Amino acid sequence: MREARCYTATMTFAYDCRACSACCRDGSDGRIGVSAEDIVRWKRIGRADIAQGLVPGHFGVQAFPARDDGACVHLGTAQNPHDCSIYEIRGSVCHQLQPGEPQCLAYRRVAGLPT
Ligand code: SF4
Ligand code: SF4
Repeated sequence: MREARCYTATMTFAYDCRACSACCRDGSDGRIGVSAEDIVRWKRIGRADIAQGLVPGHFGVQAFPARDDGACVHLGTAQNPHDCSIYEIRGSVCHQLQPGEPQCLAYRRVAGLPT
C-alpha cells in the first residue's frame, strides 16, 4: 500500500491505504477486474488458486470475487482489516490505483472518508 499527502491552505492529511481500503470494498458484481496478464502471472508463480477463484467481471474480463459485504475476498489480514492478503502479487488494477487520484477520491467519498 502507498501513502500520499494532501496539502491545502487549511489542512494536511494523508491518504493512508492501510486505514482506508475503500477501493477494495467496492467489489460486488465483478467490479474489480483482473487482466489476462495477471492470470498468467499467478499461474506462473504457482498461485493458480487465485485465477481459479475469479468470477465474470464487467467489460468481459475476469474479476475478483466479493464477500457478502461487497469487499474483495482478498481484503483483510490477521493484522489489519484494511490490508490486502495478496498484496505482493495483487492485480495490476489494484497496483495502478494511486492514493489521492480522482478514482481513489470517488471511492473515499462513497465510503464517507475525507477527501
Ligand atoms: S481508496 Fe485510495 S486511499 Fe483508500 S485504499 Fe484505495 S487507493 Fe488507498
Ligand atoms: S486484491 Fe487486494 S488490493 Fe486488490 S481489490 Fe482485493 S484486497 Fe484490494
